[in-house]
Order: sequence, then C-alpha cells, then structure tokens
Amino acid sequence: MNILVLPGDGIGPEITAATLAVLQKANSVFRLGLEFQSEEAGLKPLAKKGTTLPESVMAAARAADGVILGPLSTYDYPSRDKGGLNPSAELRIKLDLYANVRPAKSRLGVGLTGKPVDLVFYRENTEGFYADRNMHLGLGEFMPTEDMALAVRRVTARCCERIARRGFEAAARRRRKVTFVHKANVFRISDGLFLREVRKVAREFPAIELEDVIVDAMAALLLRDPMRFDVVVTENMYGDILSDEASELSGGLGLGGSINAGDAHCVAQAQHGSAPDIAGKGIANPSSLILSAGMLLEWLALRRSDDRLAAAAKAIEAAIDATLKDPATRTRDLGGALGTQEFAAAVAAKLR
Ligand code: NAD
Repeated sequence: MNILVLPGDGIGPEITAATLAVLQKANSVFRLGLEFQSEEAGLKPLAKKGTTLPESVMAAARAADGVILGPLSTYDYPSRDKGGLNPSAELRIKLDLYANVRPAKSRLGVGLTGKPVDLVFYRENTEGFYADRNMHLGLGEFMPTEDMALAVRRVTARCCERIARRGFEAAARRRRKVTFVHKANVFRISDGLFLREVRKVAREFPAIELEDVIVDAMAALLLRDPMRFDVVVTENMYGDILSDEASELSGGLGLGGSINAGDAHCVAQAQHGSAPDIAGKGIANPSSLILSAGMLLEWLALRRSDDRLAAAAKAIEAAIDATLKDPATRTRDLGGALGTQEFAAAVAAKLR
C-alpha cells in the first residue's frame, strides 16, 4: 500500500517526521506492507513552482491508498490566481472527501471542565457555506457593490444523506446514538432539507437513537454534559466550529485526530494549524497527526477487512494514550519536557 506524505508548512515537517517514525514502527511490528512517498505541498512548491499544489502532487494523491497531510499556513498564501490554492480544500473536493471525522476524547483522564468527553463529529465536508468549495465554477462569496457582500450556502440531499449514513454506521460501532445538529428553526428550507435526509436514514437504523439539537444549544450542552453525545452529524460550518470546541474541551486541539474520508480516498490531517510561532523549535506536540494516521489505518482496515491494519490502528491509539497519561512523557504544551521526536520515540517504543 502506498501512503503519500505531504509535510506542509510551519510545524508540518516536524510532526510529519514524528508521525512517520510511529507508522514505520507499526509497519514492521504488524507487517502492514506500507510504502511511503513524500512530496511537497504549501509554501515550498509555491516558491519553486508557483503553486501550493502542483498537478503532479494531486495526481500522486489520486493514485495513493492514503494521504498524510501536514498543516498548511493558508493564511500566508496569495490568492488562487497567484498560485495560493488551499491544498486541504482542493483534496477534499477533487477526491470527494465528504466526511470530516473528528473524535474528541479526554485522553488525559478528564476534559477541561473536569468531565470526561468521548464523542466523534461527522462533519459534512464538501458544501455548506464554504465558498471555495461549494460551487462548480466560481466562488460562493461575492460583492455586488463595494458595500455589500453575499455568501451562498449549498445543501444537497445527496451530500446530507451520505454523511448521515456514515454517522449512523459509526454509531452502530460505538454507543448507538446520533445527535444531528442544525438550525432548522431559522434555516427552515436548507437545514430542513438536511433534517429530512437524516430522519430518512435513521429509519434504516432502528437500533440507533436519534436526537436533534439546535446549534446554539449544542454549544452550551457540550460544556454542560459532554457524555450525552456519541456521534454528532452536522453541516460543514457548524461542525468546523463545534468540533474545535469539543476538542478543546477534551484536553486541547493538539490532542484530536482527524480524517477527511470519501468512498475511495482518505486524507489524515491534524486538527490544529501550522503553528508558525513554534515552527523549527522541535517542541510541537505530534499527537494529533499521529492519531489521524491511526484513523487512516482504521479507515483502510474497514475497506479492506484487514485485521492487521485494525490492530495497528488500535495499538497506535493505545500507545498515544499511555504516553500522554505519564507526565514524564508529555510534550511542553502539556507541561512536560519531551520534544516532538522524543515523544514520537516514546510512542513508537510502546508498539510491540
Ligand atoms: P494554530 O493551530 O496553528 O496555532 C494556535 C496555537 O496553538 C499557537 O499558539 C500554536 O503554537 C499552538 N499549537 C498548534 N498546534 C500545536 C501543536 N501541535 N503543539 C503545540 N502547540 C500547538 O492556529 P493559527 O495560529 O490560527 O494558524 C496558523 C496557520 O495555520 C494559519 O496560516 C492558518 O491559516 C493555518 N491553519 C491551517 C490548518 C490546516 O492546515 N488544517 C488548520 C487551521 C489553521
């Protein structure tokens, strides 16, 4: 199996090297047969080739069995016409990665409010308000006059149905509950369409409980009673915001894994950004990208019914948990003393 590695910008190369150290160990312990190919995306190819995502890299992503994508300094990119494509958005659209799966789990014992958290977001990833990806041609955000800006949100039954289905399937493997988050009291037509599709899918999963919660109430309920939630299905922007809240609540953005998955492709990506303030110092916490790589193995395991991949995915998560639990093997953001590569070595050493 060929895994394409795109280290990205800022702390990307450091946390990607750490992730590869863990994956290489898992590869040999579990005899996974993974081969790694590294290419550049982000500011490096922009300087050399005039684009943040060369066509050859897109082709390599299409051909790969899975992709590991480091964080990207997208805020520093020039406009699209000057080569500043957002590689993350391009991959999501061109590889039809419609499910952004973001678990939030209190790995340090309890979350920020002293309550445990163990839930997973299934965020619709290809439409909604995201102007750079919700149109066939052009952008979903425009200015008819210099004092007026409009943003268009796209909601289609097909995209709602497929993310809802993935959410219900995940709930069947977890605590058997789906919470659908929406604002259908205001967006009666667009969120109403999403709710209709979720309810249709729910009928096929009678053993799974479905509740629906309005997005503003969800922001409060996450703080008040996080264990009420198991699988949360929602649209692109609500999911973007609420999954960060849930991650932070579980112990920090640096601790949450994330994949962007479709039916044929999957990209593992950290939940956090490129952290330019600490880039090059060797102190970044690589847990998020390592956990994301573990989720990629789990996605591959399900598609291929491959027990070794499934075992490796479980072992990586357990090794991260064990390493984080011990204050002596934490990175500095968590009050520990280990650098990025030392932390990865401690995780890899637990894979046997
Ligand atoms: P950020 O997540 O990069 O950093 C926020 C804060 O968290 C910083 O203080 C940073 O040092 C810290 N932090 C982040 N990851 C860490 C880690 N692994 N270990 C220790 N500390 C960590 O967010 P930002 O500063 O708002 O954005 C920086 C750049 O990242 C911007 O260009 C933004 O557009 C981009 N970004 C990219 C992605 C992505 O590629 N998926 C996501 C979010 C932001």
